[in-house]
Amino acid sequence: MTGMAEDGGLLLPASYPQIDIKKLTGLGYEDVALEVLRGYMDDMPAGDLQTLIRKSYASFDDKSIIPLIRTRAGYFAELFHGPTYAFKDVALQLLGNLFEYILAERRGMLNIVGATSGDTGSAAIAGVRGKKGVSISILYPDGRVSAVQERQMATVSDDNVHTYAVAGTFDDCQNIVKALFADVEFKRANQLGAVNSINWARIAAQIAYYFYTYMQLPVAISGGKINFVVPTGNFGNVFAGYVAKRMGLPIDKLVIATNKNDILHRLVQNGDYSTDDVVPTHSPSMDIQVSSNLERYLFHLYGNADRLKAAMVELKDTGSITFSKELLSKLRVDFESSSADDSAIEETIRRIYASDKYIIDPHTACGAASVAQLHLDPENTIILATAHPAKFGSVIEKALNIMATEPAGIKQLAGLPTRRTKAPNEVGYFRKILSI
Ligand SMILES: *Cc1c(COP(=O)(O)O)cnc(C)c1O
Repeated sequence: MTGMAEDGGLLLPASYPQIDIKKLTGLGYEDVALEVLRGYMDDMPAGDLQTLIRKSYASFDDKSIIPLIRTRAGYFAELFHGPTYAFKDVALQLLGNLFEYILAERRGMLNIVGATSGDTGSAAIAGVRGKKGVSISILYPDGRVSAVQERQMATVSDDNVHTYAVAGTFDDCQNIVKALFADVEFKRANQLGAVNSINWARIAAQIAYYFYTYMQLPVAISGGKINFVVPTGNFGNVFAGYVAKRMGLPIDKLVIATNKNDILHRLVQNGDYSTDDVVPTHSPSMDIQVSSNLERYLFHLYGNADRLKAAMVELKDTGSITFSKELLSKLRVDFESSSADDSAIEETIRRIYASDKYIIDPHTACGAASVAQLHLDPENTIILATAHPAKFGSVIEKALNIMATEPAGIKQLAGLPTRRTKAPNEVGYFRKILSI
C-alpha cells in the first residue's frame, strides 16, 4: 500500500521465494499466478488470494488470459487482453482488487496518485474505478499520449476518478508524483497511495507471466533456457523478469528493447547512463529517460544500499551514473539491449506482417526488432507483446496501409463524453488538489 519507502527509495522483498517449475506443468494462468504470488503474500489466506486472482482476470477477452503466438520471428506473449488492451492491466486489475480487500479489512481509504505516459493511467483507472475506499488522480503529459489512451482515461465517469492533462513531459509528471510521495508528512496526512510501477505489488503480479509463458514452450520439458525480449520504458516489466530469474526460472538473456529514448541501451552497450531530452516516438509508453525501476536492479548490481544511495545522489546531481567495466560485465550476464527508431518500428511491423500475417503494435515492434538485431533464436525467444495494435492505429495504418481491427472496448470509446482538467507543471497545484 505504501508505494515508496520513507527514505525516498523503492521497496524490495527481503528474499525471493524459489519456485520449482516442475510443479507448474499444465497449470492455467491463474494457478501459476497463485503459486508465484503466495510466496510474497503469506499474510493473506491463499483461498482469498485465489479468489482475487480469478476476479482480476475474469474481464480478459481471451480464455487463456495470456495467449502465446508462434511466428517465424519468435513467440509473442500477448499481454494485452485486459480492459485497456495493454500489459499494465495484468498487474493493475489485481492491484485494484488487492487495495479494495485490504481497505475493507482496515476500514481505511486511499488517495491514489499516479503519473502516466499513456497506458498506466488508463489501466490504473480501469483497476480501481468504482472501488470502495479509493480515489484516483492521474497525471499525463498533455498532447503526448495517443488519442485512444486519452479517451480511455477521460471517458471514465466514476466519481472516484480524476484525470489531469499536465503542461509538460512524462518525466515532469513523474517528478511531481515523486515529490508528493517524498514528503512523508504530506503523504501520511493525505493517505497517498501509488499505482506507478514503483509499487512493488505491480512488479510481483508481472512475474507470473514469465513463468506461465515459459511453461508453454517445448523447451520447458527439459528445463532449458530461453530469452525474453521486453519493450522497456520504466524498467518495471523487465525487472519482473529479472525477479523471475532469481526465483528459479531458466532465463538466459533479458533483452531490454528501447526506442529512440535509449538511455538503457546506452547503459548496457557502454555503461553510459546519462539522461537526455525525451523525444516523442511511435511508441509513447516507452518515451522515458529516467527509468525508476532501474534503482531496484542497481541494488542487486551493487550488492548494498549505501552504494546504491551514492549512485542515486550522483544521478540527481549530475544527470548521470557511471559504471565500472566490472559492474558492466556483471550486468551483461543477465541483460542485452537494443534500440529501434520510428523507421525501424515501421519496417518491423511490415516484416512481421509479411512473414506471418500478424500485426504487432509499435512497442512490441521495438522488441521484434531486437530479435533480428541481436540474432536471437526465435524458437527459444519470447517477445512480450505489450499493447494491442489497434491502440496505436495510426502507426499501423502508416506502416501497412490497413487498419488494425479494433476490439469492442476501443470502438465504443468514440461516442463517449470526455472529462479532464488541464493542469500546470507545478507540485504546488497538486498539493492543493490532493489535500483531504
Ligand atoms: C508501460 C509500457 C511499456 C514499458 O513498460 P515498463 O514496465 O515501464 O518498462 C511498454 N509497452 C507498453 C505498451 C506499455 O504500456
